[in-house]
Amino acid sequence: MSTYNPYDNVAATIRDAAGKLGLPENEYIELMRPERQLTVSIPVRMDDGSIKVFEGYRVQHSTLLGPAKGGLRFHQDADETEASALAAWMTFKCALVGLPYGGGKGAVKVDPTKLSKGELERLTRRFATAIAPIIGPHLDIPAPDVNTNAEVMGWIMDTYSTLKGYTIPGVITGKPLDIGGSLGRPEATGRGVMIVTRELLKKLNVPIEKMRVVVQGMGNVGSVSADLISKLGATIVGVSDVSTGIYKESGLDIPDIMRFLSTRGNLLKDYKGSGISFISNDDLLLLDTDILIPCALENQINNANAAKIKAKYIIEGANGPTTVEADKILDDRGILVIPDILANAGGVTVSYFEWVQNLQAFRWEEEEINNRLEVILCKAFRSVYEIHKENNTSFRTSAYMLALKRLAAVKRIRGVFP
Ligand code: NAD
Repeated sequence: MSTYNPYDNVAATIRDAAGKLGLPENEYIELMRPERQLTVSIPVRMDDGSIKVFEGYRVQHSTLLGPAKGGLRFHQDADETEASALAAWMTFKCALVGLPYGGGKGAVKVDPTKLSKGELERLTRRFATAIAPIIGPHLDIPAPDVNTNAEVMGWIMDTYSTLKGYTIPGVITGKPLDIGGSLGRPEATGRGVMIVTRELLKKLNVPIEKMRVVVQGMGNVGSVSADLISKLGATIVGVSDVSTGIYKESGLDIPDIMRFLSTRGNLLKDYKGSGISFISNDDLLLLDTDILIPCALENQINNANAAKIKAKYIIEGANGPTTVEADKILDDRGILVIPDILANAGGVTVSYFEWVQNLQAFRWEEEEINNRLEVILCKAFRSVYEIHKENNTSFRTSAYMLALKRLAAVKRIRGVFP
């Protein structure tokens, strides 16, 4: 675990795709490193009167296609390397689905479960102040990620607006509805996971009703993915959160689990569903299932477990859940992996709709949002599928080939300054 460097994953994937496209290094070398990285200190007055200083990051990997775009994570293991890798994945994701955005990501190294609500708000507002010089609706637009939510986005919008002296909803997406959030945004990433899963099975002529599904990480992405996929008729046999996994052969009651987890602080280890058994997160990934949907963190499918995975299809709800080595093992074993930059692109797509609504000071109906999301993701899926068929490349390599081709074309037009 200690030698794992997610940015190495990114670099290897870019090189692989560039090689397949026959791109000379000059055409993609700028994408091998982030454009801008900011590390900040965040002093916070704790409830007991003491002051603690946390470290935060905002990385802009690329602004070639537009303002940087990407989430903010609060996690005790966050660091600049992780934020850089996550920012790079955003660059390729936005290029892949055709959004006018570059890639960014931010994080604070903190375990938010150890903070009171007041401490969390003070930390968020001070972090927003520290990164304010490099964010903005035409510069870099953050969004929710692991352990951050609409409430945190609202504090950031308010802090940034207060600093500038007027209300600027377009500085951040994933906000509460009342302050310019978008209908459909909380469900967007999971909805996207459902759409690509459905499209993959359609292409393969596999009925979704016959599918048994395991979801790792019942947070924002995992819970909505599980819910919408079970509504299409699949059986969700296993799910997990940071505390434990749970399993039920005849299918878990996902709405009931979501209701239970919606209370702040509730964890699956305390869930009492009928007929469930508990299982470790490690064993959950190895369950005999058709579809595995990792929706937690990076590096979950790695050298140590890739050879033992039994799922036929892996849909990456999380960013970077599979290492490069594991990818190769899965590919050799004929396990199909729908990569993160396609599978979880629903979130940034509806974030884009939210930003467009903010810039226009206009609201769209949820039906319009969901329909537009369908169109964008189905098109991206079809394009990746065609490259996969034509070149006999994995879905990941195919997705990167498409994204890199678009990025390189824009680079050629824009040139190198000066
Ligand atoms: P979240 O904080 O809402 O949920 C994370 C879930 O993972 C929780 O259930 C948590 O308990 C679980 N978890 C944490 N550590 C774990 C571990 N070691 N083992 C097993 N489970 C663990 O976060 P989220 O927003 O759902 O994000 C999940 C993943 O999806 C991340 O990789 C994130 O970057 C990615 N993602 C999120 C969005 C979004 O819109 N929120 C968009 C695209 C991608």
